[in-house]
Amino acid sequence: MTTYKIVMLPGDGIGPEVMDQAKRVLITISELHNLDLELIERPCGFEYLHETGEPWPEGTFELCRDVADAVLLGAIGRADNAKTLAVGEHSPGRIIVLGLRSGLGLYANVRPVMLFPNIMHNISGEFRPLWPVENVDMVIVRENTEGFYAIQKNEDSALSGVSDEVTDKRIITKKGSELITRFAFELARGRSGAPVDGKRRVTCVDKSNVLNGCRLFRETYNSVAWDYPEIGRDHKFVDAFTLALLQNPENFDVVVTTNLFGDILTDLAAVLQGGLGMAPSANIGVDSGMFEPVHGSAPDIAGKNIANPIGMILSMQMMLKWLGERKDDDILQQSAGDLSRAVENYFKNGRSLPIEVGGDADPSAVTNKIIEQLKKINVN
Ligand code: ATP
Repeated sequence: MTTYKIVMLPGDGIGPEVMDQAKRVLITISELHNLDLELIERPCGFEYLHETGEPWPEGTFELCRDVADAVLLGAIGRADNAKTLAVGEHSPGRIIVLGLRSGLGLYANVRPVMLFPNIMHNISGEFRPLWPVENVDMVIVRENTEGFYAIQKNEDSALSGVSDEVTDKRIITKKGSELITRFAFELARGRSGAPVDGKRRVTCVDKSNVLNGCRLFRETYNSVAWDYPEIGRDHKFVDAFTLALLQNPENFDVVVTTNLFGDILTDLAAVLQGGLGMAPSANIGVDSGMFEPVHGSAPDIAGKNIANPIGMILSMQMMLKWLGERKDDDILQQSAGDLSRAVENYFKNGRSLPIEVGGDADPSAVTNKIIEQLKKINVN
């Protein structure tokens, strides 16, 4: 039996709270399917930096690069805003999150946007259902190693401290644009199209009417699209897209965009899902994968035992699916399928839902219900 090594980086704020829940689910799955998983946990983040002077224990990057079959990340963020970094000190977010993304070549950030049944959206302090469940089912694919967040090339501006004028460089390359747009078209091939008409399409979101980098991105998208005649082309400027995303989510199947736009758009898209705590993501490269919820450390709710663990649990589900496909391991793929059914059954059932989406269940109660569903699926 193959042993899979999973490196877990819980991080700051609610990161460890949601990671604990994902770990409980993962252990249950490994028992139910007799998987051989080695879970390797490392502390990291702002808190760790303030305790030790380092963002993570020495050798953690190499552990993720050379030993891990997959990496699970909670969240890196400033749990206590009063603790500021010294001038010139490297931010743990840059070193850990951006460092792993660029150091492991994780060029594709994949963020599924799905709405489950019985979700209530908290808008202006009131919980209500908003979109029909079947209208929200898209994947936003975000370029992950270039743009404004390109860590190596953009180091100076990010660390220069305060001055009266600063410039942030944005790197967009033809090679990076081709990789990510091809990834998006390949993804669309395996999906069943946009909810509105069941037609497969890839929407390119950019600001190519103003920005040169976006022009290159769109031209590259257009040339890649010729290789996929069966998949529809669609273009949107990023400002218009924000409106269309919330007004008519049913029109979108796969959306591909640049790094910063993707970062902002997927927080907005989380509104369609019921909140940030619902949103999972995968960072995929040629040889590595790192999986993390879309949300950050959420300092406003950390320690209150109210965080929604679903985004983290679904990120772990994406990890099982990716690892199963990569290693051609049927049992891993089956466990990923079971977990996705268990989460769906849990929402259909509608009891003990997360507080964020109108329920009353703390993180551990949510996990108990998912584990219950997993066990039911494996008995049947
Ligand atoms: P960071 O600086 O680490 O990115 P942040 O506060 O800027 O943290 P998020 O952590 O992404 O950003 O949180 C944004 C908002 O969404 C907060 O009000 C937070 O409480 C809410 N939120 C985020 N994650 C969850 C979750 N898992 N469950 C419930 N609410 C969440």
